[in-house]
Amino acid sequence: MALINCPECQTKVSDTALKCPKCGVQLRKPKRGFFGKLFKWGFIGFNILMLIWLFSYWDSVGDLANTAGSDAAKAGAAIGGTIGTSMLLGLWVFGDIILGLFVMFTRPKS
Ligand SMILES: [Zn+2]
Repeated sequence: MALINCPECQTKVSDTALKCPKCGVQLRKPKRGFFGKLFKWGFIGFNILMLIWLFSYWDSVGDLANTAGSDAAKAGAAIGGTIGTSMLLGLWVFGDIILGLFVMFTRPKS
């Protein structure tokens, strides 16, 4: 464990300290732990995944509507698409809230 000089008050502080004990200036940014990183990247990955999923879903619904022969089939595809979209969006929001809470709980304490 080495000692460094605080850039603000020049007090000798441990290089593992996050804050200067004398003036309270932040010396290092607190790092996320393993789970903190995991949830942070999980959160980002989840959003990307849901975006891709939603677009591929719209793509397949569009194909279905285009290939549908009758007007009733077209209407069915449109209704199904709307229901499916709201379900996907609901799942997205729900997942974001759950993952967001985990990201918050695993946030480094300063
Ligand atoms: Zn200081």
